[in-house]
Amino acid sequence: MTKHADITPRQDAPCKYFSERGESAIATTPIVVGSHYDIIVIGAGIVGLSAALALAERGVRVHVLEARHIGWGASGRAWGQVAAAAKHTPKEIDATFSPERSWRINETMARIPEIVSETVRRHDIQCEMLESGNLIAAHRPGKEHGLRRLADDLARRGYPVTLLEDAACTTVTGSPRYRVALQDRRGIALNPLAYTRGLARAVLNAGASISENTTVTQLERNAQAGSCKPPKVQSAPKASLSPPMPSPPTACTPESVAKSFLSEPIRRSAVRWTRRY
Ligand SMILES: Cc1cc2nc3c(=O)[nH]c(=O)nc-3n(C[C@H](O)[C@H](O)[C@H](O)COP(=O)(O)OP(=O)(O)OC[C@H]3O[C@@H](n4cnc5c(N)ncnc54)[C@H](O)[C@@H]3O)c2cc1C
Repeated sequence: MTKHADITPRQDAPCKYFSERGESAIATTPIVVGSHYDIIVIGAGIVGLSAALALAERGVRVHVLEARHIGWGASGRAWGQVAAAAKHTPKEIDATFSPERSWRINETMARIPEIVSETVRRHDIQCEMLESGNLIAAHRPGKEHGLRRLADDLARRGYPVTLLEDAACTTVTGSPRYRVALQDRRGIALNPLAYTRGLARAVLNAGASISENTTVTQLERNAQAGSCKPPKVQSAPKASLSPPMPSPPTACTPESVAKSFLSEPIRRSAVRWTRRY
């Protein structure tokens, strides 16, 4: 049996600090049962809303379903650092994928701050964006070696990074606690809840719709690809809806989503990938 993650909130209200600055919460509408959409996006976080925006701007009929409210998940509680980096370094990505694929991943990774700042400007998102660069500081000696290797690798690829050591590091971090830090001048920082709310506003302006307090509890595969008609409709994919959420929602795990929509070889590879990372 699939074990579902518990996404019961520790607190239901949005983070007060973020909520009071920048974009305000926006009004959304309940889903109309029987409506037709090309794509249903589950979750109004940065990922779901970015996907919805990209699709809506290309004329796809999109509806976003959110169990709680816009930015309720990690997106509204993050630290707001937008780095040109991911968990895995470009070198690790090169070692994992084919040259063509790793080039595409690394290229995209390098452009993340640029893509975000361009989105902020295009949609006039009020999210306290600071284009000040990012610092990755080694908080213990064991981390310094990895940071040096990363700095070498990034510099070799031509990225605007500097390894700050000792006094230079203390000056920039304002603390003697860190001896080594990687300064990446591409990075930006922003208020993540305000950014998420701004994306939601852009999604609505692009003609898509969003329903909050609506939990997807079930996904079903249907042989016939087509519109998504909630609930109890045979077209695929089918989402059973329960607005408003009566109990903690059942999260759609990578396994359950992959099982619902993907062919077997792709499903196996996707689940292996998400389990690994
Ligand atoms: C404390 C913290 C700090 C972080 N700091 C940073 C940082 O500085 N920089 C950075 O790049 N990343 C940071 N991250 C990671 C980053 O926040 C996440 O990777 C990103 O927000 C994920 O976005 P998401 O849209 O995938 O998920 P989420 O923002 O979690 O959105 C998922 C949404 O789906 C909804 N949902 C779930 N199940 C259902 C369902 N069944 N039906 C309907 N809706 C559902 C949830 O309510 C939620 O709103 C941080 C994360 C945390 C926790």
